[in-house]
Amino acid sequence: MARLTMKFGGTSVGSSEAIAQVVEIVREHQSDGHELALIVSAMSGVTDMLLDSATAAAAADEDACRAINDALRAKHAAAVDSLISAERARVAILAEVDGLLAAHIELCEAVRILGEVTPRITDALVSFGERLSSRVIAAAMQDAGLPAKQFDSQRLIVTDNQFQNADPLWQATEERINNGLRPDLAAGLMPVITGFIGATPDGTITTLGRGGSDFSAAIIAACLEADELIIWTDVDGVMTADPRLDQRARVLPYVSYQEIGELAFYGAKVLHPKTVQPIISRGIPLRVRNTFNPGHSGTLIGERTQASATVIKAVTGIRDVSMLTVSGRGMLGVPGIAGRTFLATAKAGASILMISQSSSEQSFCFTVIDPLAQSVKAAVETELQQEIQHQDIDSVDVLSDIVIITVVGSGMRGTPGVAGRVFSLLGERRINVLAIAQGSSECSISFIVAEDDLETAVAELHSLALETVENDRVNGVGSPY
Ligand code: ADP
Ligand code: ASP
Ligand code: MG
Repeated sequence: MARLTMKFGGTSVGSSEAIAQVVEIVREHQSDGHELALIVSAMSGVTDMLLDSATAAAAADEDACRAINDALRAKHAAAVDSLISAERARVAILAEVDGLLAAHIELCEAVRILGEVTPRITDALVSFGERLSSRVIAAAMQDAGLPAKQFDSQRLIVTDNQFQNADPLWQATEERINNGLRPDLAAGLMPVITGFIGATPDGTITTLGRGGSDFSAAIIAACLEADELIIWTDVDGVMTADPRLDQRARVLPYVSYQEIGELAFYGAKVLHPKTVQPIISRGIPLRVRNTFNPGHSGTLIGERTQASATVIKAVTGIRDVSMLTVSGRGMLGVPGIAGRTFLATAKAGASILMISQSSSEQSFCFTVIDPLAQSVKAAVETELQQEIQHQDIDSVDVLSDIVIITVVGSGMRGTPGVAGRVFSLLGERRINVLAIAQGSSECSISFIVAEDDLETAVAELHSLALETVENDRVNGVGSPY
């Protein structure tokens, strides 16, 4: 018997058919004797609808809020009607759904009166997605005879107050999970917990960022000391590229924590970038599997690196970024300019995705997301005002319509010539590389190209990854476990 934490994503719980499939998967794992804790996302599309309701409410568009509220009811009621056969249970769960939707419309009304929506209220508004789905799913499981019990994670995951991107406060969270979840697990119940949501110590709802249910599941797996975390999604596993970008993408049987960290940070949506954080130190294995193809063993993610000739395993890209370049002859040998630039960037609320410096020290560049580029430029110019006045620094330039492409694979470490191969390939395709950075872990190389070059660059580099995966298959290189 193992203790498993399983998370089901938006598509996996997106319709009554999909939820029925989830119930089957859960039943199978339970009948194998495993102890299960389940984390669920909102039904697919629901988080976006709730965000739209926030925007509509702030614009005083009552009709739009009402229409969204009605559509949410129809979506959840359809699932309840088809999944729950017992009349009493059906009436009870519909009453809960209606209660939450009444609270949603009330909150929209409050936003309308205020005339603006803050990150804090946005979090309260989007939390309804998981609060609705978890209730419907738990009820469907009970109807199928499983000992499911719904839990709201705002009572389990304690976070800081960075609304829309909160981080857990570990000690408090561990205590809540020990006291609030373990006794029910020990009593043989199967918790069905909302993903995505936490709350500050005083109980104000927060969220962990878009796609954050993966992170929720990892936090809970870590606190419960699970034997394995399984992320059930809508693809067979972690692939050599985003299958929507290149149809040739193939499933990787094994990826290390470090590799998935780089892939997720640089845009592979399959896992939230923080997912591995809570489980690395405890060595909890992570598996990514497909709800719609449960016969496939998926991708295993663990600590070891693969003993293969594998060099480039996967390629990924991030759109909607801008590159800022700080340059000037007077920068040479002047300490602290980069430090002050990055501090000003952080104060402007932007995270830096990639940094690169020219060897002459006469310029360096870094990338931030598009919507923040102009405010970061202004913040850096203010910080470096004196140097600009003295003409030590010429300018802070912003270049948009660019993308970051990242190739990942721990085999790069100690394999000379990988970067050379990557860049000569791009050169042959006449793709201009604007900046390059290698991660300190040496398991990824990122570079910037024009947005128009994204597809060609990904396709070319993806061919390298596919070659590698094929070599591993032929040579029988599998998981290091
Ligand atoms: P969920 O709702 O289950 O959390 P997401 O939509 O967040 O699912 O993530 C799964 C999606 O991630 C896939 O449908 C796929 O299109 C996308 N994706 C991007 N890059 C990759 C990759 N390297 N491997 C697998 N899927 C990827
Ligand atoms: N429902 C949230 C989102 O769509 C969280 C998640 O699904 O992981 O971002
Ligand atoms: Mg996701």
